[in-house]
Amino acid sequence: MIAKDMKNSIKNGSIIRAMFEEGKKRARIYGAENVFDFSLGNPNVEPPEQIKQAIIDIVSSEKPMNIHGYMMNSGYEDVREDIAKSINRKFKTDFTSRNIIMTVGAGGGANVVFKTLLDPDDEVITFAPFFGEYRGYVANFGGKLVVVSPNTVDFQPNLIEFRDKVTPRTKAVIINSPNNPTGVVYSEKTIIELSEILREKQKEFGTEIYLVSDEPYRELAYENVEVPYPTKYFENTIVVYSFSKSLSLPGERIGYLVIPTEAADYENVFAGAGIATRILGFVNAPSLFQRVAARCVDLEVDVEVYNRNRELLYDSLKSYGYECIKPEGAFYMFVKSPIADDSRFCDMAKEKNILIVPGTYFSCPGYFRIAYCVAYDTIRNALPGFKALMDEVSG
Ligand code: PLP
Repeated sequence: MIAKDMKNSIKNGSIIRAMFEEGKKRARIYGAENVFDFSLGNPNVEPPEQIKQAIIDIVSSEKPMNIHGYMMNSGYEDVREDIAKSINRKFKTDFTSRNIIMTVGAGGGANVVFKTLLDPDDEVITFAPFFGEYRGYVANFGGKLVVVSPNTVDFQPNLIEFRDKVTPRTKAVIINSPNNPTGVVYSEKTIIELSEILREKQKEFGTEIYLVSDEPYRELAYENVEVPYPTKYFENTIVVYSFSKSLSLPGERIGYLVIPTEAADYENVFAGAGIATRILGFVNAPSLFQRVAARCVDLEVDVEVYNRNRELLYDSLKSYGYECIKPEGAFYMFVKSPIADDSRFCDMAKEKNILIVPGTYFSCPGYFRIAYCVAYDTIRNALPGFKALMDEVSG
């Protein structure tokens, strides 16, 4: 018999998995070109050409033991130094290799952070709507996820409710901007106010609270919108970064943590994160892709491809009468369901071979998420279906 917790995880994880299987089934019946799968955040833009060249160069010029051997659990020191320098160039920070830990993507990074920080029953606050995997990342270490309800006006975090939810047991707050599922970028005003509340509460309770900034979409921002660098606003910030989306490398499992020297108990957090990397079974981040990431750290995928999709989808859905905020980043659109029951609406969409995820999965019922990291034609061909759905429910 498997663990009770795992039974729950299987049940809760089944929405997106079921959709994935449904997509494959429908593709067999109706033809792949007639199924519009907007369910997964799997980038469709090719990685930059230089990635392939970097792999070839590294494999042909470095000694094999330098590419395939074990190294420090935190990753190659020269790679961490190159990444620190790149962050410093971009954000005028002052990091060194002693602030960087290479990770197995953002998912691996977040687990390392929570393994390092959480005692059983410690609380981690997050803002709905949020990436559903946070439930598992926090529960893995006996933590309790505390959810602040959504602010559906502009989907910036609801800071009034947040202030009330911080307790002496709050160990961390996890934010994600640009956001999955809304595409919203948390403004500088939001980050400043959030930091002020955290400082006030740390003082009130005599505790330290860490701001964990989950940033796999940092580079995917449109129209030059600024994505504030959170370590500049709050000293106890840990950045969880990933190359999964910025370089379209989700299968390679590569990212890093930034742990600033100013963070409370820095020495132990840094040492702990290295050990957590090992004892969670990662041992270290993939070695070849650490080297690739160091060489390609200043590259980005062509964000214009996502931007074209965003414009077409947003303008079209608005013209059919859908309500939604225009996303400023990531490749998701979070749309108000025209009927209250978001799961029912997603089932209706499925009948038109349109696969979208109910807002309930992100703790925000009454909405649905469209992942528009798909071919432009997939969006164009799905539009009549979205229009028909609106016509159907408007009677
Ligand atoms: N955090 C958020 C908000 C995500 O959307 C994702 C992936 O979709 C992850 C973390 C996990 O990213 P990675 O592939 O780097 O583990």
